[in-house]
Amino acid sequence: MVFDLRSFLQRELPPVSAEPTFDFSDRDFGDVQVSGPAVCNFTARLAAGEAALTLSVQAEVPGACARCLAPVRQSVEATAAFTVRQRDLADPDFELPLTANGCLDVAEWAYQELFLAIPRVLLCSPDCPGLCPVCGQRKTACTCAPTADAAPKDARLSVLQRFLCDE
Ligand SMILES: [Zn+2]
Ligand SMILES: [Zn+2]
Repeated sequence: MVFDLRSFLQRELPPVSAEPTFDFSDRDFGDVQVSGPAVCNFTARLAAGEAALTLSVQAEVPGACARCLAPVRQSVEATAAFTVRQRDLADPDFELPLTANGCLDVAEWAYQELFLAIPRVLLCSPDCPGLCPVCGQRKTACTCAPTADAAPKDARLSVLQRFLCDE
């Protein structure tokens, strides 16, 4: 979806509201993928000769918990607001993505906002205890004795501990 921001400003057009859905499944999001649709809400209205733009984008991000590797589906939402004047469109440092003919590239803007909002580390829950160092299962599922968790992971330290226990 593209939006003719220049005409909107020049002709002082009535407010615009759109709810486009984008497919970002082939876009780069680092270690995660956005496989489902990204649902957006885009509005533009004029106020004192400026275009006030808002964008929200929501998507489901599937992945694996960084601590226990359980599958995770996280809902990610990003919102942005921007005010644009006519002269901003000629500024080479204009921050919003424009197409070759100077229209606002709403899909690209949504991609950029989503990219920034996606957590670099997914967790199944904020307090996920992770995996048991002894049996390798999720700590919530394992049946190891509680003291086993305190055992040193380093084999060399285990030897030392046994030595200490023997005295
Ligand atoms: Zn987890
Ligand atoms: Zn265990």
